[in-house]
Amino acid sequence: MNAPATLPGCDAPQAKAARPVLRERGQREVFCGLTGIIWLHRKMQDAFFLVVGSRTCAHLLQSAAGVMIFAEPRFATAIMEERDLAGMVDCQDELDRVVGQLLDRRPDIKTLFLVGSCPSEVIKLDLAKAAERLGARHMPQVRILNYSGSGIETTFTQGEDACLAALVPEMPASPIDAPQELLIVGSLPDIVEDQFLRLFDQLGIDRVGCLPARNARDLPQVGPNTRYLLAQPFLADTAMALENRGAQRLDALFPFGAEGTTHWLKAAADAFGIDEMHFNAVIAPARERAKRAIQHSRKTLEGKRITFLPDSQLEIPLARFLATELDMEPVEIGTPYLHRDHCAQELDLIPPSARISEGQHVDKQLDRVRADKPDLTVCGLGLANPLEAEGLSTKWAIELVFSPIHGFDQAGDLAELFARPLRRRDVLEV
Ligand code: SF4
Repeated sequence: MNAPATLPGCDAPQAKAARPVLRERGQREVFCGLTGIIWLHRKMQDAFFLVVGSRTCAHLLQSAAGVMIFAEPRFATAIMEERDLAGMVDCQDELDRVVGQLLDRRPDIKTLFLVGSCPSEVIKLDLAKAAERLGARHMPQVRILNYSGSGIETTFTQGEDACLAALVPEMPASPIDAPQELLIVGSLPDIVEDQFLRLFDQLGIDRVGCLPARNARDLPQVGPNTRYLLAQPFLADTAMALENRGAQRLDALFPFGAEGTTHWLKAAADAFGIDEMHFNAVIAPARERAKRAIQHSRKTLEGKRITFLPDSQLEIPLARFLATELDMEPVEIGTPYLHRDHCAQELDLIPPSARISEGQHVDKQLDRVRADKPDLTVCGLGLANPLEAEGLSTKWAIELVFSPIHGFDQAGDLAELFARPLRRRDVLEV
């Protein structure tokens, strides 16, 4: 393998964990945190997301989740007009009116999130104060919380982090003498969550909660007896909020691929004193199935060079999966924010030849992509077409967030998501 390149702006290599990371700041090409509403509203079935934003915010949500037009909507935008932005009306009064109307019309809403946006942040509209005032008025029928989905200095998966962090103070405290409990943290499609719950049950871990809960009023309890597993690598604020309540993180690889999923489950099994032979017996069938499913894509992916442009914050664990289970060669792994603790075990498995970058300077990164000429570039929607026009194969990063990719039963599909653009390229080239 090649030695890691020394790049201007890199940290000097020190200990094993401190591998060189190129830090960049400049123009970014990412969606904002409002995007998280698309998957969060499906997960939390009695919650409503009221974005306090502009017409641009409303367009983003409508175009990303237009299908909701035909269903009972569980998100909406309270559009701030010019006179709001100019300070000519009291936005707090307007918000009280809109929330009152909404809750009168929709008694099924049990949790209402007031979601901040760039415009509400620019005019410093205090949504925390609004949530407190409205919460006092509408409790106990509705719990009212707030978080920011703004695109100022954030990337789109941070919307979920902010939303879950807002839920943590609402979680009931577990009794001091309660037995140890496991908490799965991160929004997973129900089908994937059910697979994990079944495996934990077969392992003998029966006290398992999920954050977010499907019903926002059934929040799991938390306390010093809580051991939590992160299902997503972008939940830094949520993790900190849980630890402030006494919970302890189980350090593990993220559950992508056969090995990542095994490692993730094993971290829980060890913490709960599950016998090794029993662990192996329970997970072996699903693990073998996952390994076989991954093999379908091996011929297409093996030895291929891949670059990730910073987008979803899933980049590090996905690159680890592709490198260790499919023998792909990561050229550059760009991520908007790198949580060194949460990703420490992942980083140890990333080949030393891979360049890791944090933050974004889109022009410089595109120059490097052109120079590196990877076989596949994982990037945002806006960059994919121009790169394809230059003859580079691309994969939309956001598809990886919207698809079920965690766990044993999804490992083959995850590999296939990367193989498909390369097969398409081969077909087009014939
Ligand atoms: S929150 Fe900001 S970035 Fe997101 S749609 Fe609204 S204005 Fe655009």
